[in-house]
Amino acid sequence: ATAFKGKRVAVFGLGGSGLATVRSLVAGGADVTAFDDSAASVEKARAEGLPTGDLREADFAGFDSLVLAPGVPLTHPTPHWTVERARAAGVEIIGDIEIFCRERRAIAPGAPFVAITGTNGKSTTTALTAHLLRAAGWDVQMGGNIGVAILDLEPPAPGRTHVIECSSYQIDLAPSLDPTVGVMLNLSEDHLERHGTMENYAAIKQRLVAGAGTAVIGQDDEFSRTMSSLLEADGVNVVPISEKDRLDLSGARALRGAHNVQNASAALAAVRALGMPDETARAGLLTFPGLAHRMEEIPGPGRVVFINDSKATNADSAAKALASFPRVFWILGGKPKTGGIDALVSFFPRVERAYLVGEAAEAFGRTLGAHDVPHVISETIDRAVAEATADAERSAEAEPVVLFSPACASFDQFRNFEERGEAFRRAVQALAG
Ligand code: ADP
Repeated sequence: ATAFKGKRVAVFGLGGSGLATVRSLVAGGADVTAFDDSAASVEKARAEGLPTGDLREADFAGFDSLVLAPGVPLTHPTPHWTVERARAAGVEIIGDIEIFCRERRAIAPGAPFVAITGTNGKSTTTALTAHLLRAAGWDVQMGGNIGVAILDLEPPAPGRTHVIECSSYQIDLAPSLDPTVGVMLNLSEDHLERHGTMENYAAIKQRLVAGAGTAVIGQDDEFSRTMSSLLEADGVNVVPISEKDRLDLSGARALRGAHNVQNASAALAAVRALGMPDETARAGLLTFPGLAHRMEEIPGPGRVVFINDSKATNADSAAKALASFPRVFWILGGKPKTGGIDALVSFFPRVERAYLVGEAAEAFGRTLGAHDVPHVISETIDRAVAEATADAERSAEAEPVVLFSPACASFDQFRNFEERGEAFRRAVQALAG
């Protein structure tokens, strides 16, 4: 990134996006030093020929900018410095999306840039928006919080569109975020451990749309509606979207459920704002392949429909999955979040039987039992799949649904939701084999 040429920049956190940041800044002629508190990560960067520093000697007050990886807490303790001290010394604290924004303004200010956020549906909407554009032959770069780090993508250029998923962490570190189209899907309680209050969380998300040429904003929750009216009053060009929008998604198998009406409606609004004709965009909805682990249909034996929704790490996401089917054999559990499945009680009548796995099994069993929902403690995904499939095969329904939508984090038994989803996929495939 040439926008930092000659500047002294510290990069802290050398995961995939941190390394991409260092490479990009070095290539652009910045005076970069890379840090991490893991010696192995520093060594990896050094082995690649990147300039690294020693945290024990680092004085961050001497830098112009401190670039943080999105996972680094702002209170991160190190021997000599904290982010707060660096900030007090006049060092700007930013992230990789901010670097991209400055680069775009410097080298291709007119290049279309779509930034997408929300508590749920970010990845689906980002992938769908990119798909609609690509299907119509546009030159698209997609990444950010999904897939490829933003600074590992091809740089901004005239005629090239960037479609970027932004987490609230990344927005927090991008003070001059100015997308052509900003999309804010929805807001519900999640990640409050970093952002403190819901008001603060909403204020961060709001910044993504406040600086956008067109602000596409969901209207299906209180916080988003408030944000929408505040921005409209401020003169921002707001395009409201909702899961109640009348979209015919019957031919789009990868976009089941009302929540996907919200996602599809947002993607359509985004590409419309970039100038794509509606007919063209709607044709693309039908060919969207969907994303792994999000309401993904896994081929299995017989008439049972298997749905892998491992990405549903909270009750709100699981609610969307449950709302998509009239009856389900539901596999859930993992590392529970605050509130457990209390918010899902209204969906319990849809549950034929529940199969509980992981740390949450006992507690969820009590909640289900209190509402007379048949359930069994299966402990592992393998056993849950076997038991749910046996029950589904005995049911009178034409296409019984075995839904894996855990409403929990995965860290009790897996490294991440992807690994957990693969475990479900293998269990289903084992039935077929
Ligand atoms: P994110 O990237 O924001 O985590 P994803 O697109 O990966 O979101 O979807 C994760 C899960 O969230 C899905 O499996 C689904 O259960 C739920 N979900 C998807 N879109 C929405 C939406 N618009 N509103 C609420 N929940 C959603």
